[in-house]
Amino acid sequence: MTPASDAGPARYPDQDGLDVPVVWSTPMRTRFRGLDVRDGLLVRGPAGWGEFSPFWDYGDAESHAWWRAAREAAVEGWPEPVRTSVPVNVTVPAVGPERAAEIVRASGGCRTAKVKVAERPLRPDGTRGDPEPVGAEIERIAAVADALGPGGRVRIDANGGWDVDDALRRLPLLDRAAGGLEYVEQPCATVDGLAAVRRGGHVPVAADESIRRAEDPLAVVRAEAADIVVLKVQPLGGVRACLRLAEEVGLPVVVSSALESSVGLAAGVALAAALPDLPHACGLATAQLLVRDVAPSLLPVDGAIPVPTGPGHHVTPDPALLDAARASSEVQDAWVRRLARVRSLA
Ligand SMILES: [Mg+2]
Repeated sequence: MTPASDAGPARYPDQDGLDVPVVWSTPMRTRFRGLDVRDGLLVRGPAGWGEFSPFWDYGDAESHAWWRAAREAAVEGWPEPVRTSVPVNVTVPAVGPERAAEIVRASGGCRTAKVKVAERPLRPDGTRGDPEPVGAEIERIAAVADALGPGGRVRIDANGGWDVDDALRRLPLLDRAAGGLEYVEQPCATVDGLAAVRRGGHVPVAADESIRRAEDPLAVVRAEAADIVVLKVQPLGGVRACLRLAEEVGLPVVVSSALESSVGLAAGVALAAALPDLPHACGLATAQLLVRDVAPSLLPVDGAIPVPTGPGHHVTPDPALLDAARASSEVQDAWVRRLARVRSLA
């Protein structure tokens, strides 16, 4: 096995002025998106540090956008922010009501919570089990609304896990449990499904997967399938690419993370801080889902993440934390090979 990318040892700084990449890995505090471990690669360039961390179920072609985001961070830097902090939501995975309330109370003052629904537990053999009963979702949402108290906002994310009938049957119950949902994110997998849920119910609809994994993100707009769009910097190819898309879409934007380390989260904060309008809390308070981070974590204070004040508004790894989070040499090699393959697709 001698792929072209393994032809010789890489030279640094490389053609983009990037130093030797560093790979981090950490257990998750709670299983999330079916993951118990999260890992990724960091690069340092003339503008600062960038992160390349596509999930392992993303192929090389789809991962190229993630690389463009990392390259933008490290080589070009980001546009200037128009605000000094970004309001964020706490994310509540598919856990029981007591644990859900605990997560909200430990959130650093978040006034908005995003609750995962339509979860199908992963079986030991790798297949998915039956969807959680609606009663468990109601209990979790009610516990979260109660822990937030008056004036709190609850949104839910189904990750495309319902069909239209499921969504229209469950939403009134979940809406009632929340005392009024802020919105439902990606209730169904398809754009037509989103449009049907939007027409058939009274809960606003946010599009997430239909934007970032779509050939044509504007199909959502043409089909009038969403009230809000969720943008993620890495899958959409960088902060500037997201700003252009936000302008084309013309709907309110919620910036969310892809479970990055705080180096990668800083790109999401840069996007949220550069958007002209930011009417909803963003999904960037995900450092609290990681056991280890590569820098002091970007966490909310009074419900908002302060925009980093260092050079270029980047986060720089802390040597001791980075050392503690450093991946095994096996994982490091897998990421370096992956990056070489993805970069060769340019
Ligand atoms: Mg989502």
